Amino acid sequence: KLQTGIVGLPNVGKSTLFNAIVENGNAQAANFPFCTIEPNVGVVAVPDPRLEKLKLINKSVKVTPAVIDFVDIAGLVEGASKGEGLGNKFLQNIRECDAIVHVVRCFEDENVIHVSGSVDPLRDIEVINLELALADYAQVEKRLDKARKGRAKPADYSQDEVNALEKLLKALDEAIPARLVELTEEELEKIKPLGLLTLKPVIFAANVSDSDLAEGNEFVERVRAFATKEGSSVVVVSAQVEAELISLEPEERAEFLEALGVTEANSGLRNLIRAAYELLQLQTYFTSGPTETRAWTIRRGMKAPQAAGVIHSDFERGFIRAETIGCEDLIAAGSEKDAKEKGLLRSEGKDYVVREGDVMLFRFNV
Ligand code: GDP
Repeated sequence: KLQTGIVGLPNVGKSTLFNAIVENGNAQAANFPFCTIEPNVGVVAVPDPRLEKLKLINKSVKVTPAVIDFVDIAGLVEGASKGEGLGNKFLQNIRECDAIVHVVRCFEDENVIHVSGSVDPLRDIEVINLELALADYAQVEKRLDKARKGRAKPADYSQDEVNALEKLLKALDEAIPARLVELTEEELEKIKPLGLLTLKPVIFAANVSDSDLAEGNEFVERVRAFATKEGSSVVVVSAQVEAELISLEPEERAEFLEALGVTEANSGLRNLIRAAYELLQLQTYFTSGPTETRAWTIRRGMKAPQAAGVIHSDFERGFIRAETIGCEDLIAAGSEKDAKEKGLLRSEGKDYVVREGDVMLFRFNV
């Protein structure tokens, strides 16, 4: 399951934002059952109008949207990479995530203590980035050490991996995140198992006060400039506003937001969900039949067996082929039968790269 970790220094608004996400997810999830949700995992439905259309075509009893898991990773502090404040545990939590939302404090409030005494989003970003880079450095160094000593058994290490490790070590030494290091596809493939923290895509969530939600502020501009330089994106949110929205009736929400100069469609949380989905290179494929029409989240570039594995590992292990049709094709044809007659139904093998909106039926050996 794909997970997005929420990180940031203490007191920047992570929990407030996370609780808003959980509440929002629970509200939207009322129609369909979820497996057990852990206390620090929030599930959010990704709105998608194609689901209803597929439901009509296949007369599905129920519809299940794609979801993104957000994981609250509290407690990341300066020194975490050396084990400060349960550091290693938190770093491990991040390692298990596929993407990171880095919450930065862009609001002033003298009642909310800042761990470093003043609001300075760039310094905060640096503190977190340094911890992540240090943790990665230690890991890369360890692996490189092994590789060099183990040259007698080259089967375990390829030259590609050693090359990649050397480039990474140099960059991380200067606190440059691994995601900014130029690696060939082969090199990237080799170092993937390391689960490097700074290789994960990042969205900066600039947490502003309600009055700055519409226009942003000086702090947000600084975060934007930084993010642009490193090719990451920024979403402006107000954790406080999101928290207040939850307690309001739907009709009151629009009014409340209007007074702040924003609309529901571009209030922070939705933007964050959309940004997490798109910018973290996720895409959707569907399964659709009489029982259920369902959207599944995969990473762009995933092949059919991996995509099947998102449903169940057995599907991946025993993958034979995938009956596939583009969602738009199916909707245009009006039924699976008509689509088949028009030759729009394809049988795809294990090397097929899944396209956005594919409707798939997996054939597999148990
Ligand atoms: P965390 O430590 O990062 O999880 O931060 P919390 O979510 O616990 O927030 C710390 C404090 O900041 C709480 O008292 C929040 O109510 C407050 N807070 C969070 N977001 C905002 C905001 O946008 N504006 C203001 N003024 N306070 C906020």
